Amino acid sequence: MCPKKELILDSYSNRNADLDRELVVHAAECLDCKEYLDNFDQVARLTETNLLHIVELDQIEIEVYKRLAVQGGTLANTTDTVKRRFRKYELLDLLIRLKEIVRFSWINLNNYRLLWLTVFAVALFTASWRYLIPGNDLSSSVSISKPRLETFRQEQLRQHIEEANAMHYLKNDSRTSQSILRLVKEQAQGTDLESYAGQQIQIAQRQRW
Ligand SMILES: [Zn+2]
Repeated sequence: MCPKKELILDSYSNRNADLDRELVVHAAECLDCKEYLDNFDQVARLTETNLLHIVELDQIEIEVYKRLAVQGGTLANTTDTVKRRFRKYELLDLLIRLKEIVRFSWINLNNYRLLWLTVFAVALFTASWRYLIPGNDLSSSVSISKPRLETFRQEQLRQHIEEANAMHYLKNDSRTSQSILRLVKEQAQGTDLESYAGQQIQIAQRQRW
């Protein structure tokens, strides 16, 4: 135990520059004081580093609050700002939920979708076959475009049926589903889709409690 240790401590706590030089010379010779001083330096450096981190965090927080204050200041009504922010979060929440629902339905209703896809593919094939056969006459462009337009129209109607099914089975909204199906039935008069939409309406009505 070197008696000058206490002087070193004093020097540090009082920041006495005159004593410093004297002690530095001593610390270079005395192993005990050298070790003590090194430890002291290490502790001091660690403390300074920690303090620096805290300051940095504070600065970031200050910047965030400043920015929030500037954003809030541009809008005159505070409650309006809060409402707007709330709406933004609500929208985000809705989007996340929607994403989850879509993912959920993809996992659970894959077989169901596959079934519908097969039904639509068969229906599309049947419709194309029926309308493209008389259109085989290549000399007339009208006879080709007309069935094509009809195919396109039916494809759209099929998409509406799919929408109606999604409304019914995914959103449990059989009323909207039925009104879509009724419109499809009206538009699809004289085609296979008319009877198909009719069947779907009957199914929807039967399942209604
Ligand atoms: Zn010493």
